[in-house]
Amino acid sequence: MNSRRSFLTTLAGSTLAFHLLPKVQAAPVYDGPVLRVALMGLGGYANRVAEAMKDCKKAKLTGIISGTPSKIKDWQQRYGIAEKNCYNYDNFDTIKNNPDIDAVYVITPNALHHPHTIRAAKAGKHVICEKPMAISAKEAKEMVDTCNKANVKLLIGYRMHFEPKTLEVIRMREAGEFGKVLFFQGLCGFRIGDPTQWRLNKALAGGGSMMDIGIYALNGARYMVGEDPVWVTAQETKTNPEKFKAGVDETIQFQLGFPGGAVASCLSTYNMNNLDRFFLNGEKGFAEMQPSTGYGPIKGRTHKGELTQPHIRHQTIQMEEMADIILQHKKPIVPVDGTEGWKDMVIIDAVYEAVKTGKKVPIKY
Ligand code: NAD
Repeated sequence: MNSRRSFLTTLAGSTLAFHLLPKVQAAPVYDGPVLRVALMGLGGYANRVAEAMKDCKKAKLTGIISGTPSKIKDWQQRYGIAEKNCYNYDNFDTIKNNPDIDAVYVITPNALHHPHTIRAAKAGKHVICEKPMAISAKEAKEMVDTCNKANVKLLIGYRMHFEPKTLEVIRMREAGEFGKVLFFQGLCGFRIGDPTQWRLNKALAGGGSMMDIGIYALNGARYMVGEDPVWVTAQETKTNPEKFKAGVDETIQFQLGFPGGAVASCLSTYNMNNLDRFFLNGEKGFAEMQPSTGYGPIKGRTHKGELTQPHIRHQTIQMEEMADIILQHKKPIVPVDGTEGWKDMVIIDAVYEAVKTGKKVPIKY
């Protein structure tokens, strides 16, 4: 009896204590649609995306496409991927008949984005394609047209378009807090290692630093200024022609002119470390970010003070947002569709043209 009484007393006490505790709200369980994704090309970046997707509610890794059987086995074990959702580059067109996969995320070397995207679209799947979406504007246009014809969405892996501090600078610009935007500087580069890697092979990379890392400065110039450039001038320097063969640029400096009168000065390089910096200047204020496009945390400040928005793993937020764009037709603040990617390719074509001719090249979309 005593023990029962003491048990009840304890129970009553603990129940009372429970009621006195501040109420912690359980996070609502997500029960909306989920984008089921197959990753193609299981290299460095695909690994990063797959790890980040573990934290997604709206996107799920359900399939893989790889030319290496041992990687398929390893990934099946790591991510619990069903045998029927595993493909190689010869048979992945049959993904068409697989109801477990809504979208293919193309993360192969640059020159393969065009054929891989077109095959995935023809198999009736939405496509997410890594940057640069292609190796020329012509290819990019064909990818956009094919996806439109197949009635599937095409999105480009512009992860910075969802990054909270970047979006705050864009919000400030749109609210007029910088006044008229006059100048942007984008410095993007790293010192590349192994000379045998595909990034230094023109046939697979489509170019050099400009395709890989310079595109961040270029795309950044567009989303920071908020306009598409109308002319470009560009200069190339090459200190190591042995490592950076013909058609593979080591360092390019380029300048862009915008319709509103702003100018941008950008640097793209495979030969310098610690280059990841944006600076935007307007009549009433400025923003500076360093690092500006790395995996983060992004750091930055404006004339108003430090940017304090939280760091969220870029690939997690990207996949959550892309799920909403594809399945719920959500409109992102900065576009990530094929046309956005095609514009970057038009500008990259013009950068290479300006390097070749030494002339100011008009950009026509
Ligand atoms: P990686 O070399 O690590 O991986 C490439 C994968 O493609 C490998 O698994 C390789 O086996 C496979 N592949 C298939 N066919 C191939 C072929 N014919 N030749 C060579 N490899 C072949 O490269 P990565 O760093 O993962 O880059 C892949 C893509 O992702 C590139 O387009 C790159 O620009 C992009 N990327 C984007 C970001 C970003 O932050 N958005 C970061 C890194 C890479």
